[in-house]
Amino acid sequence: MVVWRRIRALPSWAPPLLVAVVLVSVPLMDLGMATTRQIQLACVLALVVSGLNLSLGYGGELALGQAAMYAAGAYTAGLLSQAGHTDLVVQLLAAGAVALGVGVLTGIPGLRLGSWSLAMTSFFLVLLVPDIMAIFGGPTGGRNGLSGMEPPTLFGADLDGDGFYVVIAVVTVGWFAVMRNLVASRHGIAFRTLKQSPVLAASQGVSVFRMKLLAYAIGAFPAGLAGALFANTDLFISPEAFGFTFATAVLAAAILGGVASVYGAAVGAAVMQFGPNQSTAFQEYALLFYGGFLIVGGVLLSGGLTRVGRLVVAGLDTRAGLHRPVEPGEPTVPSFDDLDGAVLDVEGIEKSFGGNRALRGVRLDARPGKVTALIGPNGSGKTTLLNMICGFYRADAGRILVGDAETTNLPPHRVASTGIARTFQTPAVPEHVTVLEAVASGRYTVDRASMFSAVLRLPAHRRATQADRREARRILDIVGMAHLRNEIATDLPLGMRRMLEVARAVVARPRVLLFDEVASGLDENELVRLAEVIRALRDAGATVVLVEHNFRLVLELADEIVVLAQGEVIAEGTPAEIGRHPRVLREYLGADVVGSDREEAR
Ligand code: ADP
Ligand code: MG
Repeated sequence: MVVWRRIRALPSWAPPLLVAVVLVSVPLMDLGMATTRQIQLACVLALVVSGLNLSLGYGGELALGQAAMYAAGAYTAGLLSQAGHTDLVVQLLAAGAVALGVGVLTGIPGLRLGSWSLAMTSFFLVLLVPDIMAIFGGPTGGRNGLSGMEPPTLFGADLDGDGFYVVIAVVTVGWFAVMRNLVASRHGIAFRTLKQSPVLAASQGVSVFRMKLLAYAIGAFPAGLAGALFANTDLFISPEAFGFTFATAVLAAAILGGVASVYGAAVGAAVMQFGPNQSTAFQEYALLFYGGFLIVGGVLLSGGLTRVGRLVVAGLDTRAGLHRPVEPGEPTVPSFDDLDGAVLDVEGIEKSFGGNRALRGVRLDARPGKVTALIGPNGSGKTTLLNMICGFYRADAGRILVGDAETTNLPPHRVASTGIARTFQTPAVPEHVTVLEAVASGRYTVDRASMFSAVLRLPAHRRATQADRREARRILDIVGMAHLRNEIATDLPLGMRRMLEVARAVVARPRVLLFDEVASGLDENELVRLAEVIRALRDAGATVVLVEHNFRLVLELADEIVVLAQGEVIAEGTPAEIGRHPRVLREYLGADVVGSDREEAR
């Protein structure tokens, strides 16, 4: 256990660094040609799998086009080599760029069409590759394969077998470092948010289309690199190498290693390469094996070997007791810096789902420094109204204004950038992120720092990350969750997840806040805290719209109450007015509920 503790105390980059050093120094170990070649092929496979992980594990888009991009990279390198451009740097850059291009070109139509289209288009793309290559005769060699490649060079110098191996190892290590930096950055958390809920990502101002395209296209890049390296391994490529069997092997390796992990790709690729791919008998039944594995593995191995590893580590971890959350400090009365609230003006909004008229001429006027409550029975259209305000549905008629700007029918990420933030009736919290990271993710579009700066850890990225963390800490302090900031966000109980959503909505300093049933599932203490937080937000000048079932909380907090029934506003007024409105009492609350509420209040 002492050894174990020592290992645990190492920084998280140490084990991968050790593996990287070993990998690069394989030529010194005298492992023999066959083993070195296997490692080489495992590196190539790992690069392709890593690209799939980015779009599937992080972007949440099942896209199998990696085999096609791999082919594009291989043929780019092959043709360049035939033409006498043997320098590997030139070939790698060209192959990466061509693969990126294929990714963007095939990603745009697939993603534009939405839902499963990208999975379908990329699947067909892979099926087409061998045939496309076969059709082209000439320099690609058609079905016979591309031959006549010259041995690779590096910066004008000839490369021997060991030299080429080191290039492969360095490119692989380099890409995994890029991937690690990207995934651990604020962009990586944005990808996880997107995977968890595109609706949530859009409500934070993220263009879902752009973000998914980025994941898919960036994931194409390592596949292109892998193609170029593969082409130079045997100086021969044939269309069969890029067919459906390869695509399935990539998917199987991804799932085996765990799609939502950086190094899972390397683990999965290594197991595939050193296990099944070794035997020739296997090659014949490869597709059968991969198919079978995907069915069984897809069901049993969610999270892949990486998850198994993590569970083992967690089980062995004797320090578990040490990172228990610290006890909450003395609760302070929350107070926020001034917020620049905006008038939210909803006029005559109509919305039908088929024959169901969910909203009929709804109007709502929420003002800065006020809490406007929206109440009504289940199914009366409250959530639909919030979704309309956020731009998730198109209005059949009516207008929505935030301040002076009309937002009617803008796409959701554009609406969010006018300063609207919200929480969800069912909390949406990305997996594998800490509370602090989850709250900080609310600021993703507030500060901009490119993915490029994140990969290289440039000052722009560091500044944005520091600001994210500072603001998130401050807000967590205010809502009384500072002691939970290093917990995994999805492990929190429901009440705390709701509070986390409030913090995440507030961290971007929004002008309008929409809370959808934030109080349900909260215990007494949490309710008190929530009420204080909402009051503090109001006092800071925010425009707060509160959808709530807890009538006592509404009476206590609201300045204005709007009552919806069957998609129509049936009453609006102050709590006192609503509390004695005959139709509200009859239709919504029922005399009993009010009676018992009053009794409790006494
Ligand atoms: P509330 O939040 O007040 O409980 P909702 O706004 O969720 O009510 O629902 C209002 C009505 O609109 C319900 O009849 C519901 O079935 C319908 N509705 C909401 N969203 C959709 C949708 N995406 N497609 C079809 N019907 C919907
Ligand atoms: Mg609702």
